[in-house]
Amino acid sequence: MKNKIVMANWKMHGRRAFAAELVGQMRADTVINRPEVCLAVPMVYLDEVGRLLAGSAIGLAAQDVSARVTDGAYTGEVSAAMLADVHCTSVLIGHSERRQYHGEDGPVLRAKVEAASTAGLSVVYCIGETLEQREQGGWESVLAGQLDILQGLDMSRLVVAYEPVWAIGTGRVATLDQIREAHAFIRHYCLQTLKAPDSIRVLYGGSVKPDNAGEILALDEVDGALVGGASLDYAAFRKICEAA
Ligand code: PEP
Repeated sequence: MKNKIVMANWKMHGRRAFAAELVGQMRADTVINRPEVCLAVPMVYLDEVGRLLAGSAIGLAAQDVSARVTDGAYTGEVSAAMLADVHCTSVLIGHSERRQYHGEDGPVLRAKVEAASTAGLSVVYCIGETLEQREQGGWESVLAGQLDILQGLDMSRLVVAYEPVWAIGTGRVATLDQIREAHAFIRHYCLQTLKAPDSIRVLYGGSVKPDNAGEILALDEVDGALVGGASLDYAAFRKICEAA
């Protein structure tokens, strides 16, 4: 047990009954029911899952948040204060699917991080390069650019998730050397350029499964995993938590 973080990202999957069954299994299981485990569930089920998790050690996260801080005429938006009100302790910001399908970029992501921090939520800020950017050899500058938007912000409750876009949902995992190298780069950049505290944690995400979780989570540079597909399966997620 290395106390590494395991964050589940259900994305847009499941219904009420699925959530209730999965959460019931997880909270009854001491391998999963630990403070290092957190579930990022669809917005509409946050309140219910929060109630199901009450009294357990498992954290609850949203997959996105509005950049708007004060209530107002922002149709469809959900504020950080609302997330905190329905038991969330953290929020994913900047997931590649938000960047890709919703055009989210630097200024809006910075505003979201600020809004989440103001409401007392921890932030899991996701970054990662595309396959083309990696093949062109520019992954460091891509990651640096994505991190730079955090300049001047309080980094004390921020976790970075390195998720190479080409490894998300594809079954294609970064090699251990690639993960080690990218995590070392991110950590150094956060400490030196963003003045993050030494305690900053960097998670890996991208096709983490039971059969590769052990070797990925064993890396010193990896402080945990962000798990998409495999987090929807109790037995698979349990094995990943066991490796953490
Ligand atoms: C993710 O959604 O953040 C993710 C890493 O997905 P998957 O594990 O399915 O690649």
